[in-house]
Amino acid sequence: MRSSTLKLIVLLATVLTTIIVLVQLYWLKKVYSFEEKQFNNNVVKSIRGVFEDLEMNDNPSMIFQQLIANPSPDYIVFKADTLPEKDSLTFYLQREFADFDVLTDCKLGAFSKDKKKYIYAEYVPAAASSYPVQQVTDLPIFDDNFDHILLYFPHRSNYILGQMNFWIFSSVALIITLIGLAISLFYFYRQKFLTEIQKDFVNNFTHEFKTPLAVMKIASDVLSQDRIINQPGKLQRYAEIIKNQTEHLQNQVGRLLKAASTENSHLPIEKENIDAHLLIEEALNKVQPLIEEKKAKIELKMEENNGHVYADRAHLELAVVNLLENALKYSPNPHIIVETGNSEHDFFITVKDNGIGIEKKYLKNIFKKFYRIPTGDVHNVKGFGLGLNFVKRIIDAHDGKIKVNSLPGIGTEFKLLIPVN
Ligand code: ADP
Repeated sequence: MRSSTLKLIVLLATVLTTIIVLVQLYWLKKVYSFEEKQFNNNVVKSIRGVFEDLEMNDNPSMIFQQLIANPSPDYIVFKADTLPEKDSLTFYLQREFADFDVLTDCKLGAFSKDKKKYIYAEYVPAAASSYPVQQVTDLPIFDDNFDHILLYFPHRSNYILGQMNFWIFSSVALIITLIGLAISLFYFYRQKFLTEIQKDFVNNFTHEFKTPLAVMKIASDVLSQDRIINQPGKLQRYAEIIKNQTEHLQNQVGRLLKAASTENSHLPIEKENIDAHLLIEEALNKVQPLIEEKKAKIELKMEENNGHVYADRAHLELAVVNLLENALKYSPNPHIIVETGNSEHDFFITVKDNGIGIEKKYLKNIFKKFYRIPTGDVHNVKGFGLGLNFVKRIIDAHDGKIKVNSLPGIGTEFKLLIPVN
């Protein structure tokens, strides 16, 4: 399975998991509302029972619901024409609560509209309550226009949640399972991605080393012929080929070693005042064989006033070499413009080519280690996908920035910005 398909599957699984989790949370909320309604119904039924037991209502034709108000979720107020005795109210309420399964503690208060205060208050523990009995002193006044009984359920939410134990447990188990699955899928995807990178690397590695070795083998075969002694021109040419290929291999091995040895550590940067123009000249010298091979046109637009930059000479040169090499590698008929200059806070070096360009969707990845653009002609060009990663690390170590502008089929421009101070 390709990692792009897998990526889609991981994405879909994540979206589905999120939807299922949200639906589950929605259902939990629904169940909570249902339990809450059930609780309120049971309380109202209990109150109706108390009304009947104690004959608290003078007018039997009164619609019962109108006597009851719910000023906030934990409080219930019910009007009483006659306020009953504290002990009988407590007794009957406790009995009705037990009958109607209202199994949570309650604080009650009897409010007298004439005295404008609670004439008594009581803590009514539920059957088998695990909470300690408290003094009731802090009942709020919701309405002082009529005599009423206030019921306050301090542990109502916990009680309702307790009724939902099965739902909560099964939802939590489902959510944990789904999240676990999503995480496993993500790690599986990452592993697959790393395996693909590794495979690409081995392919690139083989490709990169096989060709020079084959060329050297052919050249050394020629050099081992007896008659070569009589052809000094040919001898020199083949010796030159071997030398060039050896240097190329040495460079590649050096790069790999450097990439491996500086994997996690900071680049050791030693800054000094350097002439950027000399540095660019040096970099161009390093890629001269490639310039000649590709018959490239190089145009220089150098800052005239101040070409100095405070940077690590060797590393900055390597960054420019990498950009030049890429510009040459990825341009069929290279015309490369190298420009330097000063902006407000930075010194900049730009390498612009007229090559194959980079599609926008790949731009965010090109600085990643081992990343190579996966399709098209690019595969014909050799490389390990290390160059730009190294350029970025060098510029990061200088607290600088890299900007890329690229248009497929038109060309690419890399701009290195190095802070002046
Ligand atoms: P590589 O060794 O593959 O050249 P780099 O890290 O230097 O590795 O570059 C990463 C990828 O970015 C390359 O594989 C190539 O596809 C793309 N790229 C880099 N520079 C250019 C350029 N100047 N023009 C077009 N594509 C480029």
